[in-house]
Amino acid sequence: MHTLWYITVKLKELVFCQLGKRSRPQKKAVWIDCGVHAREWIGPAFCQWFVKEAISSYQYDSVMTRLLDQLNFYVMPVFNVDGYRFSWTTDRFWRKTRSKNHKFHCRGVDANRNWKVKWCDEGASSHPCDDTYCGPYPESEPEVKAVAKFLRKHKKRIKAYISIHAYAQMLLYPYSYKYEIKSYSQNAVTALYSAYGVRYRYGPASTTLYVSSGSSIDWAYRNGIPYAFAFELRDTGYFGFLLPESLINPTCTETMRAVKAIASAFVSLLYPVS
Ligand SMILES: [Zn+2]
Repeated sequence: MHTLWYITVKLKELVFCQLGKRSRPQKKAVWIDCGVHAREWIGPAFCQWFVKEAISSYQYDSVMTRLLDQLNFYVMPVFNVDGYRFSWTTDRFWRKTRSKNHKFHCRGVDANRNWKVKWCDEGASSHPCDDTYCGPYPESEPEVKAVAKFLRKHKKRIKAYISIHAYAQMLLYPYSYKYEIKSYSQNAVTALYSAYGVRYRYGPASTTLYVSSGSSIDWAYRNGIPYAFAFELRDTGYFGFLLPESLINPTCTETMRAVKAIASAFVSLLYPVS
């Protein structure tokens, strides 16, 4: 594995990989999470793909080598572990976490409506049986609380946040975005298109997809992570959550191009070539 530093970090409630060339002082970092919503199976597949690609192309691919030399990547392959497991064993279309509710028999909270930013406002439900249930209070879910705590603690270094969802073929960013985010997104969807000609729309989440309060990208942006993105991977509804196995490879290949484009823009911003 040459000089590439690859470790799996297990904190109390947190399992993720740290990828990057060992360096001192601490480098800037990019956080990537997958599997926030249980039924979006292409997400965890992408995170694993990312780790495999990063490790196998380091020192062979000049772009990836630069990224791993200059940045650390924190990759969390399955954010919502209990929900993901439930989607394999019991209900393929399960979305939420699996937490219990005192008053209702319905279980689970939408882990992308549980963040402490305009919590339980428009686009979220206060009813525990709904798929977009925001939870009894912000960060009620241990999964959300653990990641929020980690991001808060390392916000001086983590400057980009990417959350992988499905499906819609969109690249989304917070409503009150910085201008560069738009050009980053444009470059990213162009890079994605270059692989197989698959078109993605991009724009602020609220006007491109739908209004959602308490989401992780809005939270990240509000908490000092200037570059926050959510991907909605393939497709646009033909297979939906049941994207067939044969489309894992092309979907991950094209998404990799987009993520590399975003990270490269970020590296160029941090370390301009003179
Ligand atoms: Zn999702």
